[in-house]
Amino acid sequence: MSAGKIVHDYPICWRSDDRLVWLARREYFYWVDRVRPEVVKAAKKVEYFFDGPRNRFLAGLAESPPWCVTRERVWGTPLPIWVCEECGEKNAHFSREAIVKRALELPDGPKFELHRPWMDRVVLKCQKCGGRALREPFVLDAWHNSGSAPYASFTDDEFRQLVPVGFLTEAIDQTRAWAYTLLLLNVIRSARPQAPYKAFLFQGHVLSEKGQKMSKSEGNVVWGLDVLRNNSADVARFYVMSKASPEDSVNFDLKEMSGRPYQVLNTLYHLHLYLRQNGDLDGYDPARHTVPWATRRRLLTTVDRWLLAKLSRADETVNRSFSAARFNEGAKALEELVISHLSQTYVRLVRGELWKEEAGERGRRLAIYAVLGSALRKTDELLHPVSPFATEYLYQEVFAPGAWGAPLLAIGKSRGRAARSLQAEKTVDFALKVEEACNSARMKAKLKRRWPLRSVEVLVPVSGAPLARKAKRTVALLCNVKGVGVVTSASRFPADFELRANSSRVGALFKEKTRDVLRELRPLKGGDALRAYSRGRPVKAGPFDVPLSAFELVTKSHEGFEVAEKGGVFVAIGKERDDRLVAEGLVRDVARRLQALRKESGYVPTALLAYAKVRGLEDEDLALLEPKKAEIAFLVRVKKVELAGEREQGSDWKEADLDGRPIYLKVG
Ligand SMILES: [Zn+2]
Repeated sequence: MSAGKIVHDYPICWRSDDRLVWLARREYFYWVDRVRPEVVKAAKKVEYFFDGPRNRFLAGLAESPPWCVTRERVWGTPLPIWVCEECGEKNAHFSREAIVKRALELPDGPKFELHRPWMDRVVLKCQKCGGRALREPFVLDAWHNSGSAPYASFTDDEFRQLVPVGFLTEAIDQTRAWAYTLLLLNVIRSARPQAPYKAFLFQGHVLSEKGQKMSKSEGNVVWGLDVLRNNSADVARFYVMSKASPEDSVNFDLKEMSGRPYQVLNTLYHLHLYLRQNGDLDGYDPARHTVPWATRRRLLTTVDRWLLAKLSRADETVNRSFSAARFNEGAKALEELVISHLSQTYVRLVRGELWKEEAGERGRRLAIYAVLGSALRKTDELLHPVSPFATEYLYQEVFAPGAWGAPLLAIGKSRGRAARSLQAEKTVDFALKVEEACNSARMKAKLKRRWPLRSVEVLVPVSGAPLARKAKRTVALLCNVKGVGVVTSASRFPADFELRANSSRVGALFKEKTRDVLRELRPLKGGDALRAYSRGRPVKAGPFDVPLSAFELVTKSHEGFEVAEKGGVFVAIGKERDDRLVAEGLVRDVARRLQALRKESGYVPTALLAYAKVRGLEDEDLALLEPKKAEIAFLVRVKKVELAGEREQGSDWKEADLDGRPIYLKVG
């Protein structure tokens, strides 16, 4: 014998932190192992979309312990088993009719309430000895109720028609709970290896913005109802769908939600508005002016075909990823379509054509509305499952104005696939790459993007020249330059190239042989340097192969040029701006600020206003802008433009910045 103190771990309640006591109890169990082969067979026929959750579920089934189905509570489904006081015989009765038939005492009459305490007052006659039988005091485990949901909530007819259901989804912890009890009870009840669902998507949890479990005691809970009360349900849905794969947990961050996801829906709204307001001016009819209509009239350009190709790609990605529960991939494809392809590229490239007022251009403008309309209608359709309210509204208002005849969901997918023009897609994609290079060259040279420049030279390998030549017009538009030159030889490009070995990198690679390697290396210049750089293979130095990572390509722009590279495409912009180009840049600067003011003041973009006034201009700018008043009036959609040097302040003048100097604006 020994006596003393022992320190040991003690179980506590995870919710209240109270200490727990282990007790041996007499309870009812399901011997799960007796149906396990059928349960596993049933589970294997279900679609889970991801391997992780599937394996976790199946592994859980293989080792599931006996299920204690009884609880000692008041609320719940009473266990329908009666025990004889005399002989201990147990009888189960599963309907009111069976209970009433065998009753010795029915204190609440035959229509008694089938719950505690009324159920407990019913005394039955023992089927073996005729003695008094009393109900076991247990209720069923609540998971038994939820697992019985399909046949508890449907009539027999409905059950036959609807079960197994097509798709269920719950959080990953339900592998051991709802998904399990649904499966087990269906197998037991049907005596067949059949789950009551065809697909079950197990989802990761929603965590706090810092990635911790949300809990009331930690104070980091975000309440779903608060999120929906204070935000758009569509934005919240898009956020959760796009942020992560369903199988991963999500760090829920309200600030992040009102960033990009809000921007996507907001941009989509403004694109519809843009189409509606411009289209109305030209009598655009979405039912008549379609892509086939424009194609038959040969009104489509490379840029239109590029957008239609991107649209068709997004369509494919969304369909593929949504049916495989990769909702985030589909949402990302739609985000790219709306922000990058539609708003930042397509509208920017066709805006100039929409500004042209000539009647002869009306066909072309209608073709643009047809393409934009087809893209927006398809986007509404594809985004509908994620953000149903906004897309329904936009679809009905823009494509079925005033009708609101049938919901988008009932209309279903628009048929017909846009023909995909690979050539158009490649051409504009190339131009976009050139634009990126051009923008970094402008950054280096401190030349704003909206300042038109005289030229850009694009250096490509001989094989890339045909594509580059096709892209010239688009490059000129995107890069805001007057002329585009395509060059295939480094010697005709306004920059010097040299592939220079970095001796410390060579040293790290070749150790004691470094000196030999450096002596063997010939300097590579011009086209040779460029070819070696773009080949990406090691450079020969006598007997040595020197990896390309030991070199850097040094680029030196010629006088008057600035060079930059993007994805193997080199561009050189001409830095010189003459008065004409400076004036043009200035016009755009001023027009942009006036356009912003129009928008802020709430004018419809298409309305023709009476005047725009600019004050506080310096003499030099005034001289450049005076001859350009008509152009400014056109860009800003006003009848008259007034320019002046003297400052005029007052609450109704808007102060704006023009290259660090204040100017004052007014429209009306
Ligand atoms: Zn008995």
